[in-house]
Amino acid sequence: MTFPMYQWAKDLWKEPRSLTGEGVRATLSYLNDLIGAGWTIYSVLSGTKCFDWTVPLEWNCHGASIKRLGGETIIDWNDCNLHVVGYSTGVDMIMSRDDLEPHLHSIPSLPTAIPYITSYYKQRWGFCLSENQKSSLGLGPFKVELLGDLRPGSMRYGEIIIPGREKKEILLSTYICHPSMANDNLSGIVVLAALAKWLKSQPNLRYTYRILFLPETIGSIYYLSRHLDHLREHVIAGFVLSCCGDERAWTYLESRDGDTLADRAIRAADVPWDFMGFDERGSDERQWCLAGLPVALLMRSGFGRYPEYHTSLDDLSVISQRGLSDTLAEHQKMITLIENNYKWKLVNPCEPFLSAHNLYPDISERRQQPPDIIKIIGYMDGKTDLIDLFSSLHIGLDDLLDAVSRLADAGIIVHD
Ligand code: ZN
Repeated sequence: MTFPMYQWAKDLWKEPRSLTGEGVRATLSYLNDLIGAGWTIYSVLSGTKCFDWTVPLEWNCHGASIKRLGGETIIDWNDCNLHVVGYSTGVDMIMSRDDLEPHLHSIPSLPTAIPYITSYYKQRWGFCLSENQKSSLGLGPFKVELLGDLRPGSMRYGEIIIPGREKKEILLSTYICHPSMANDNLSGIVVLAALAKWLKSQPNLRYTYRILFLPETIGSIYYLSRHLDHLREHVIAGFVLSCCGDERAWTYLESRDGDTLADRAIRAADVPWDFMGFDERGSDERQWCLAGLPVALLMRSGFGRYPEYHTSLDDLSVISQRGLSDTLAEHQKMITLIENNYKWKLVNPCEPFLSAHNLYPDISERRQQPPDIIKIIGYMDGKTDLIDLFSSLHIGLDDLLDAVSRLADAGIIVHD
């Protein structure tokens, strides 16, 4: 099953996402068409309390520009939706350079990058521009127009529950609040959409999957405020999908406990990951783990760790179909490991007579290494689970699962 995730990212690229507003609505509507049945979009009114947080006003930007008085446009929000500080209030005035200066944000060390800046919980307005644009602005005066629209409305998020044979759940979440940036985090959105489609196509899932597309932080906090007891009782592992699309690195960010099922599945993944401790957390694992949920991340170049991070340079050239596909494949592998993570044991207290089941060659030949099936049964002790088996044996997952199922079908092993 292949998924054109890069094309999905291109389709969603221009949507001006934020915590709320039309960009989120359009993104969720696109995902609705993509994922189909089982998908639900929820709306939470501005002002709704969740723990000590409050769902914010709904924000939309209908345009923003800095122009010379002669009419020349210097900065235009239509060129790049990072040009406006997220949640900016409206402004329409003639300003001198000195008056405009406190409202300008750039990164001197990255002169071509427009920074991504938000101000969700303190009302202000501002423009983000590259250092090069800033230095060529001149003294003004300027006509500054920012059509920021902040009013009571709602915060939206998407949820899919895919039922399995057991009530225990795997939590998969990503965030839908970043405007036009690719690795962080359009990549997370499209890989999670592909995972959802793949899970929906699986005929006999063991676990139930709770898949969430939320505005970061306030979305997960709201969700916890309404589902905390259920999540604590049912979630056995979880993954946040963040920074999933480039090909330069793999990054494992551990859960707060550091040794949950999610951590073990990631550590078993056959990729050379760099380690990030929980003190370097940055996405919704902050909320999930503080609530006691076992959630970790397998990223590519992780948040805060690549030069384009949170700037306009994190564009579609940073990610690739191959980067997205490889990240999807690792998550599919981790889910497969968890789905099959039984502790097997031999029915008889010695090596089984494999030849009788056509599981072993009936001629003895000189050899260096025991066949895989002999290696595998050596660990069928009722204590070693499949993740440990996979980590220690260096046998491909498909081959391992095939051998285990043949042994089980032959009645040679049973699980807990
Ligand atoms: Zn981010």
